[in-house]
Amino acid sequence: MRVRPYHSARSTAAHIFHEDDDCPVGRNLAWFDKIEGREDCEPCPQCVRTAATRADHPVDALPVS
Ligand SMILES: [Zn+2]
Repeated sequence: MRVRPYHSARSTAAHIFHEDDDCPVGRNLAWFDKIEGREDCEPCPQCVRTAATRADHPVDALPVS
């Protein structure tokens, strides 16, 4: 499902943010490695694709914070 944007805390990690808790890339992040937000990050392609293919949960269903 869609969640608030989060990204890796590691400076060496890819600068992308995730917004879906089904994302395999996002799931690989440890709980201590997740920071809420999307600063300096590009949208995760995997999350974008997941959101786009899910008709019952439109991308704009949640307000952007
Ligand atoms: Zn992702």
